[in-house]
Amino acid sequence: MMNIVAAIKKLLGINRDMINIILFGPPGSGKGTQAKKLVEKFGLVHISTGDLFRHEMGNDTPLGKQAKEYIKKGELVPDSVTIGMLNNKVNAHPEAKGFIYDGFPRTIPQAEALDEMLAGRGQAINGLFALTVDDNEIVKRILSRGETSGRADDLDEEIIKNRIEVYKENTLEVYDYYNTQDKAVSIEGLGSIEEIASRLQAAVNTTV
Ligand code: UDP
Ligand code: MG
Repeated sequence: MMNIVAAIKKLLGINRDMINIILFGPPGSGKGTQAKKLVEKFGLVHISTGDLFRHEMGNDTPLGKQAKEYIKKGELVPDSVTIGMLNNKVNAHPEAKGFIYDGFPRTIPQAEALDEMLAGRGQAINGLFALTVDDNEIVKRILSRGETSGRADDLDEEIIKNRIEVYKENTLEVYDYYNTQDKAVSIEGLGSIEEIASRLQAAVNTTV
């Protein structure tokens, strides 16, 4: 029976066995930490666009220089730049059985571009998992992360507040975009790392 299903999927160019998960939430909500847990559990490739930018900045590449102008102010890097970088990263992992997108998409056009890219591969987003954490807790967490992260954008309260503003202004609506596709799930982001990891795992398990 499974063979027939697999054959039909192949004929139709549908590759829904691939898992594509968005880890969503405000800055400092624990996406990076929880992405690592999901990678261990589900064997997916983790893509953090923020980490990719920091890598480019660390190597002082043209892309890194461009990104830095936005990141140091807590603004968003333009969609075309971010989407291009994301595409390259996905293309670099033909062996992957799926991906966790962390910190992407951050705008509706990015979400549309991601859906289009996946559709072109016969794939789709399985689910968007949103970690909810209130603003006060976020500022506290990012400032304490700033003591060791080496990130200039984690040290300045004004930049952090701007990142939260940008999140509310441009990014939050990505939740609604996937909610209208019945793919968005909210997860309480307060608690121990292990507690939140098991909440997330349970939620992901119902979608894959
Ligand atoms: N950034 C961006 N687009 C992305 C990812 C990151 O413009 O897709 C920029 C943005 O300026 C953001 C910063 O990089 O404030 C840090 O992003 P990251 O996701 O690492 O931070 P987090 O929100 O997880 O604290
Ligand atoms: Mg992050």
